[in-house]
Amino acid sequence: MHPRMKSVVRDMMWARVIDDAQRLQLPTNFLKALPPDFIHVEFDDLRTYAAEYHPDDHRMVLDRSLSFNAAGRILKPLSKMTYKELDVLYHELFHAYLDYLAVVDAQSDEAGHRSDELLHFAREQQVCRYGEVQITPIIQRKDETESRYLTQAESWEALNETWAVFIGWAIWNQLEVQHKTKRSMFQEPRQATHWIQRFKMAFERGAFRGYYVPEDPDERRLARKRYLAQQSQLALEEAGVLMKQVLGFQDAFIDRLMTSFGATRASSCSTAEGRAE
Ligand SMILES: [Zn+2]
Repeated sequence: MHPRMKSVVRDMMWARVIDDAQRLQLPTNFLKALPPDFIHVEFDDLRTYAAEYHPDDHRMVLDRSLSFNAAGRILKPLSKMTYKELDVLYHELFHAYLDYLAVVDAQSDEAGHRSDELLHFAREQQVCRYGEVQITPIIQRKDETESRYLTQAESWEALNETWAVFIGWAIWNQLEVQHKTKRSMFQEPRQATHWIQRFKMAFERGAFRGYYVPEDPDERRLARKRYLAQQSQLALEEAGVLMKQVLGFQDAFIDRLMTSFGATRASSCSTAEGRAE
């Protein structure tokens, strides 16, 4: 195919994804911010992972089952995807979005240039929450934890995965609570209540935990991936920021959720930098 033709197809495909998401009453804010030609989507028979995102070449590899007629060429309509598949897709798209923000930031060399608000927050959290983490050396034994100091790359990955886990979870659960009425949970207070209840349960269970691949070869020989422990799961403050800035959830909804925890939106990071601002 001619390259120009290829990009037209990609633009159309991307427009359809956003259209489909809107029809399903799912968040589209961050999808709209992503240029269609930023990500290269590929399909493969993935056995061990449902999907992969490679920031080096902005490549998203999805399982063939997410493609139209399982032919491995284009994405199937979102309405034909299971909730689990939409969870996976949003998880990967979020990786792409954070990657995009980082790329734009790196390219901008203006003096006094200010990072995107979300990226700025991410870098702050990376230092204060993911620099030292608790991990579960044996995944099945959730209560046995060890402490680890993470490298730059490791802490960025741990944050990325933790945040993407939450984004995928949020989508799956939004679909579940909207299932009966097919209306947005922001128009149905009862559905919103259900989502908040589910969030509370998941949070108390420690469901929002990411992982990282250890850089140290000795550590990697012990475990290919290190999973964060409950103490190092997503903080409420991070959830609030992601709901607002990535998912575009309404302020009133986020406030309700925070109130249900008896939490003020106080920062869990009291770094010197944080205080100075
Ligand atoms: Zn991921």
